[in-house]
Parts: sequence; C-alpha cells; structure tokens
Amino acid sequence: MPAKLIDGKTISADLRGKVTDVVHRLRRDRGIVPGLAVVLVGKNPASEVYVRNKSKAVTESGMHAFDRHLPDSVTDVELLALIGELNADPQVNGILVQLPLPPQIDPQKVIAAIDPAKDVDGFHPINAGRLASGLPGMVPCTPLGCIILAKTVRPSLAGLEAVVVGRSNIVGKPVAQLLLAENATVTIAHSKTADLPAVCGRADVLVAAIGQPEFVRGYWIKPGATVIDVGINRIAGAGGKPRIVGDVAFAEASDVAGAITPVPGGVGPMTIACLLLNTVTAACLQNGLPPPKI
Ligand code: NDP
Repeated sequence: MPAKLIDGKTISADLRGKVTDVVHRLRRDRGIVPGLAVVLVGKNPASEVYVRNKSKAVTESGMHAFDRHLPDSVTDVELLALIGELNADPQVNGILVQLPLPPQIDPQKVIAAIDPAKDVDGFHPINAGRLASGLPGMVPCTPLGCIILAKTVRPSLAGLEAVVVGRSNIVGKPVAQLLLAENATVTIAHSKTADLPAVCGRADVLVAAIGQPEFVRGYWIKPGATVIDVGINRIAGAGGKPRIVGDVAFAEASDVAGAITPVPGGVGPMTIACLLLNTVTAACLQNGLPPPKI
C-alpha cells in the first residue's frame, strides 16, 4: 500500500489560521500587535524570495513586518548596530537575519547579538542550550515543523526509534533534541556514519536533512516508517526544466514507508508557519502573557 502523504500545505495552513486567530485576539483584547523584523543583506535571489514570502505571511497573519535591507558591502559594525536597534525596539518582538551573509560578516557573531527573547529562528546559543537542557526557549522553525508533521501520523513518539540524517545546527541537531524531548530513542547520522542504509533501516521515524537530491533510497527504509524529508534540492527535470526534489527518493520510499512528506509541499510550508508561531509566542512572553496554546 502506498504511504500516506503528510500534507504540509494543509497542516501549515491550519497552523497559520490558528496563529492568525491568536494575533486577532491579542490586538482586540490587549492592543498588542506582534512584530517581526527580517534583515536581508545583499542581493542573493533565493534569500530575496524567502524574505518576501516571510514578510507576506507575517502581514497576512495580522502582524507587523519590518523589513530591513542592507547592502552587500555592509560592515559587521553596521549590522550589529542594526541588531542593537531592533533589540531595543518594543514594536519588534522577533528578529530574523536571513542567511547566508556576505563573507566579511561572521554569522555566529550576528546570531549571538540578537536578544534571545527575540530570536525567533532559535539559533542563538542560549536557545540551543535551552533546547538541549529541556528548558523552554525559542525552537528553530524547520525542526519544530518536522515534529508537528510527524505527530500528525504518530501522536506519540515515545519509545520509537528515530534516525536523523544530518547534524547541522539549524536542522539536524535541533530535530534530534526535539525527538529526544518526545521520548524517542534518537540516532544522529552524518557523512561519516558507517553503513547508513542499515542505520536508517532501524528508524520508525526517519528525518532526512542532508542536502543531497534523492539520496535516501526506498530499500533503506523500514516498512511502515514515518519519513520526514527536509531536503530542498533543485535538479534538472524533463527537458532541462528545473524541479525541486527532497533528500529522499520519493517514489521508491512511498512504496515502503507508512507515511511520508512530499517535496515540495511537506516541511517547507511548515517553516514559515512555525516562524509565525514563534513570533506570536515571543510577543506574548515579552508582554508578560503565557505562550499561546496551539
Ligand atoms: P548542511 O549542509 O548544513 O548539513 C547537511 C548535513 O548532512 C551534514 O550534517 C552532513 O554531514 C550530512 N551529510 C551530507 N552528506 C551526507 C552523506 N553522504 N551521508 C550522510 N550524511 C550526509 O544542511 P542543512 O542542515 O542546512 O540543510 C539540509 C537540507 O535541508 C538542505 O537540502 C536544505 O536545503 C534543506 N533545508 C530545508 C528547510 C525547509 O524549510 N524545508 C530549511 C533548512 C534547510 P557532516 O556534518 O558529516 O558534513
């Protein structure tokens, strides 16, 4: 039987609807309008598209979007000054610096300069440490989206074998921490892992965050497993027309898995929905309110 499709478009639309409701109530009952500042440096076309989509989603949910574009030639002193300004601005509840940054800027220095309470990307070392320590904090958007998707088909992940392929700070490691917090038994695999197919074959929940098109093959997957494909890879399709594929060979995997996210239309739309959720959560916490129950 082909795998159940985990429809990230529908699930993210539902989450965005709930966030919009919370924003509406905050404005009506408390006069609070959450605000997200998105900082874009330079003219990377992919980053421009991401930033446009994020700002559009923020506005559609009833929040304020503060877009700040800086030239490629910006110095770290200038960028850090802008971060300081946004940290101090009470209208700004969340700050997101679109990566990658030009080579003269150290991204770690910039991330560390963001007020952790406004770090809606969850990349600040304090938020990474909080996640690793099981303390509340800002959780990175894509990993949060992966867990929400997995739980639509496996409401309890407790006791399941979870394998995360990829150990980046923005996806692999935080996904693994979140799976651990859900009481899964977690393995993190990477480019030096021996016998990756056998490791993946143990997984009841397999998360692929590798950045290699269709790398995870169908025969690696345990029958009935839940497969969450984070990868976004552009390849040449029929007639040389570019198309987007994930890190999992989707057709093969669909014959074996119990449930699987498509690419596009799986994890991708969840990232923006979780960014909205983090922004409204940050606004609540900064105003002395409990985080919204969504
Ligand atoms: P990184 O390049 O930072 O990390 C890739 C990870 O995959 C590394 O840990 C690397 O191992 C591992 N890896 C690479 N090759 C292999 C291999 N042959 N076998 C096993 N492991 C391997 O990527 P990101 O984590 O930033 O992103 C991963 C994917 O997710 C990309 O396709 C990216 O576009 C996508 N993405 C999607 C998002 C979304 O919104 N849907 C958001 C963010 C990312 P090692 O550490 O040993 O080098």
